[in-house]
Amino acid sequence: MAAILPGSTIGMLGGGQLGRMFALAARNLGYRIITLEPEPDSPCGQVADAQITAPYDDSAGLRHLAEMCDVITLEFENVPSAAIKTLESLKKPVHPGSGLLKITQNRFLEKSFSLDAGVVPTAFAKLRAKEDLETSAREIGLPAVIKTTMGGYDGKGQWVVSSLEEAQKAWDEAHGQELIWEKKVDFVKELSVVCARNSVGEVKAYPVSENIHRRNVLDLSIVPARIPEEQARAAREAALRLAEALGLVGVFCVEFFLLANGDLLLNEMAPRPHNSGHYTLDACMCSQFEQQLRAVCGLPLGSVELLRSAVMVNIMGEGTGDRLTGTESLLADPAVSLHLYGKKGAKPGRKMGHFTVLGSDVDEALGKAHKLRQLLTWS
Ligand code: AMP
Repeated sequence: MAAILPGSTIGMLGGGQLGRMFALAARNLGYRIITLEPEPDSPCGQVADAQITAPYDDSAGLRHLAEMCDVITLEFENVPSAAIKTLESLKKPVHPGSGLLKITQNRFLEKSFSLDAGVVPTAFAKLRAKEDLETSAREIGLPAVIKTTMGGYDGKGQWVVSSLEEAQKAWDEAHGQELIWEKKVDFVKELSVVCARNSVGEVKAYPVSENIHRRNVLDLSIVPARIPEEQARAAREAALRLAEALGLVGVFCVEFFLLANGDLLLNEMAPRPHNSGHYTLDACMCSQFEQQLRAVCGLPLGSVELLRSAVMVNIMGEGTGDRLTGTESLLADPAVSLHLYGKKGAKPGRKMGHFTVLGSDVDEALGKAHKLRQLLTWS
């Protein structure tokens, strides 16, 4: 594929903050960008050249996008696979493509693929009937996390169960959705690696993030992760192995659990930039968003070198109002970079923005991050 050069138009499926930050990176390199997104005035639509406001599977909307764009990518991996196939049938390059998405949209296929590629996931089994709960409880064990195979994210579609009775209750609550049983892992850290692969097969992996979750949603990322170098190397190698095995073109994030004995287990993967890679906007020469652009356009990948230690803090809505106060203190600090996504309703748990603190080491950045976040309030 010949490189898609600046001045070309990129299509973005999904209009959330990941699309917005991609659009800003694309504009910075002189590309045009059009997003297809069901919600009007989306975070991406606000900064794109145009937004097609339509459901993801709207065939007129998809045709319009294909006509206007030279290449199409996505920021939301649960775009229905039929929509991706429609775009592919219109002979438009779409990265990642329908074959890869079919795997990453389904937790069972994803973990099976990972195992085959030599990257061990948490112990898992598909639940085909209610009777399988008993078999899984016996063979894989309790406590467990029962998860819907499709459509879940940020802890949605998940039940942590510690007895067979609780598992049966979860089965009933799932109302026939396809489920997997996963061993609940006693991890010491959660880690992630963002990596990229372009259409000529060049690959690069960013440094490992150490992720702290609150109520199953990412709260903080600490980079570099506070782990021995050989574990960091193993995590990056595993992520690159998966990207290559999948034949990915784009950016890809792999989340791992680190166990006390040093083993790394795959939790999940996402074929797009990731919240835990937002630090790259301020701490690396080439952000994960510019990297996605370079990868899908067939350009050389940018530097993944970490220039400073970084801590990224998510700013979440609290349901107490839509006006964020306290930002002046963040803006007054030369080591802090603030990113707000242009969303209107600060509902509880909604990702409204993030800030990144740079430091000479992670302890310095972390100390400051904890202090600064106390200053932000919604009213
Ligand atoms: P997920 O959407 O699968 O990434 O799950 C969200 C969060 O739930 C993870 O980041 C973990 O903190 C927790 N979690 C998910 N699966 C497991 C598991 N098998 N064992 C322990 N914690 C888990």
